[in-house]
Amino acid sequence: MRYDTIIIGGGLSGLVCGLRLAKAGKRCAIISSGQSALHFSSGSFDLLAATADGEHISSPSEAIASLVERTPSHPYAKIGAEHFVATAEAAKQTLLDAGVRVEGDAAQNHYRLTPMGTLKATWLTMDGYVRATSDEGLAWKSVVLMNAEGFLDFYTQFIVDELRKKGTTCRVSNFSLAALDNIRNNPTEMRSANIARIFDKEENIAALAEIIARGAGDAEAVLLPAFLGIDRADVLDELKRRTSREIAIIATLPPSVPGIRAQIALRRAFERAGGVYMLGDTVVGYDEREGAIERIYTVNHGNIGFEAAEFVLATGSFFSRGLVADRQAVVEPLFGVDVDAAADRADWYTRDLFEQQPFESFGVASDEQFHALRGGRAVENLYVCGAGLSGFNPLTEGCGAGVSMLSAVRVSDNILKK
Ligand SMILES: Cc1cc2nc3c(=O)[nH]c(=O)nc-3n(C[C@H](O)[C@H](O)[C@H](O)COP(=O)(O)OP(=O)(O)OC[C@H]3O[C@@H](n4cnc5c(N)ncnc54)[C@H](O)[C@@H]3O)c2cc1C
Repeated sequence: MRYDTIIIGGGLSGLVCGLRLAKAGKRCAIISSGQSALHFSSGSFDLLAATADGEHISSPSEAIASLVERTPSHPYAKIGAEHFVATAEAAKQTLLDAGVRVEGDAAQNHYRLTPMGTLKATWLTMDGYVRATSDEGLAWKSVVLMNAEGFLDFYTQFIVDELRKKGTTCRVSNFSLAALDNIRNNPTEMRSANIARIFDKEENIAALAEIIARGAGDAEAVLLPAFLGIDRADVLDELKRRTSREIAIIATLPPSVPGIRAQIALRRAFERAGGVYMLGDTVVGYDEREGAIERIYTVNHGNIGFEAAEFVLATGSFFSRGLVADRQAVVEPLFGVDVDAAADRADWYTRDLFEQQPFESFGVASDEQFHALRGGRAVENLYVCGAGLSGFNPLTEGCGAGVSMLSAVRVSDNILKK
């Protein structure tokens, strides 16, 4: 089987890259082992929320020049300060075109409400989620938080306490619904994704709308945990239409319904554009010729190889096994390409859990065009994008999804330019 491009890893980065290539007419396949970080997503996509020293950034587009100057090994430095805003806009447009409804701007971060009730700076937030323009508080003075009885992954008291500190009174109203009884009987089933499947059905949306209409009282807004709309994006609109109330969503602990919905939407858009998505298969080997990757092999296809002109490594970081650490070294396990990591194990982490962790910045070494390096030399038909890149700290800098998407945009552009 031969493709123009094969992407290894079908998370946010692999999908953004693949979608752009497929739309440009490239014959493109994505091979992906399993779940991606999107299944754990907050419903927001971070671009740049702080400097490497933890200093707060309110405008990514204004801060980028100084970041590039101070950290030339950052993936954003390879994109270039002058291309940063346009690349971010192209990434956002890729989401919108796939039907992932997001709001936000690279010129100004906004704030999202975390499951702990705190406000955190971010770039894009899924449509319908609670957002604030500053970390001082929400626009509402009184809200009602409606939660399904027995829902495991949502702690209302944290939210009530934090909102009170910021000047919003939050009343909690738990509801039960006959349609939820089946999953409630088995406590481990009462998870956001299962609840969302129930609320994807028309009759249950109608029942929830009645509960909201009865229970909202005089609150300015109704808040619901993110257990709506796993396979359809219009459940919130439907509830608003039926109740004529202001309703907004708060992220829950994983699994992430908005993240899963984004993953499904991106995959469908990729397939609609002609791409081939192979889920549940793992790339385990490759052949090379004169320093270039010729074909790859997967678990499911055994000795039947997949050939392509270009390959993209989008296998993520430690979380998705795109990087692996043993007692001696941090390695990229598939191609064995160079990894930027501290040589001494003692320098991989700091003992204080809340301190910045050096291993967060470890990743695959790449050149200015995002070619992977081996022995310090670029592998001309192997690109790398996403969380597996080196040179950034997604937690300290608040830039995880941004690096994944912007590097994917840049890699797809570089391949198309070839
Ligand atoms: C738990 C978690 C939550 C996060 N939440 C957020 C958030 O809310 N907002 C934000 O901005 N950032 C968040 N991030 C940062 C995150 O890294 C990015 O947002 C982004 O989703 C990462 O996408 P990716 O495609 O680069 O990697 P991943 O999502 O990790 O995808 C890599 C994919 O490659 C596959 N794979 C690995 N090896 C192989 C192989 N050999 N063969 C085939 N497939 C393979 C994996 O199965 C996986 O599907 C989060 C990160 C984590 C770990």
